[in-house]
Amino acid sequence: MNKLEEKIISDGKVLEGNVLKVDGFLNHRVDVEILKWMGEEFRRRFDGVKVDKILTIEASGIAIASSAALCFGVPLLFAKKSQSVNVTGDKLCSKVYSFTHKCWNNIFVSAEYLSKGEKILIVDDFLASGSALEGLVDLVSQAGAEVVGIGIAIEKGFQDGGRRIREKGCRLESLAIVESMDCRTGEIIFR
Ligand code: 5GP
Repeated sequence: MNKLEEKIISDGKVLEGNVLKVDGFLNHRVDVEILKWMGEEFRRRFDGVKVDKILTIEASGIAIASSAALCFGVPLLFAKKSQSVNVTGDKLCSKVYSFTHKCWNNIFVSAEYLSKGEKILIVDDFLASGSALEGLVDLVSQAGAEVVGIGIAIEKGFQDGGRRIREKGCRLESLAIVESMDCRTGEIIFR
């Protein structure tokens, strides 16, 4: 078992509705040691891949993506979910369905921060149905940039997002892939 898998076993909780609660170390209180390990692990797994920028989505992806951006020595850009007076000028927009909030969100980035030809590594905390990733991939393609890889902390392997993304030929690295989990017993099995 790797460090993240050990942490999921010790601190994660399986909730009803196929939700893995990891807010003790990832989604609310944040364990910066595991964050550091995740950044380094993405750097190791994508060794030799040219990356110009890391892209994620607010809110929970930002901490992991910051750690990855530090390890790659590149800027981080996060897609926003709500309009803000700070964001002016042209925007690239897409739509994602939120697994945890059960609603559709518009997501956007300022066009000036995602440029044609840039090599983008997408990083996020979870991969479930793949809607968040598809929205991010859509923003990259609207900009004329290129997705060179996708790094996920926790993939729920029993949902079909990972399969769909891999079938498209994207290089996807998940640090922990949950094969199954049981909210009655709390058992979590990794692939
Ligand atoms: P997807 O778009 O792949 O269905 O879901 C990805 C997003 O939903 C992630 O960014 C994450 O915030 C959230 N998510 C999906 N499944 C879980 C889960 O089991 N636990 C938590 N904490 N977040 C999840």
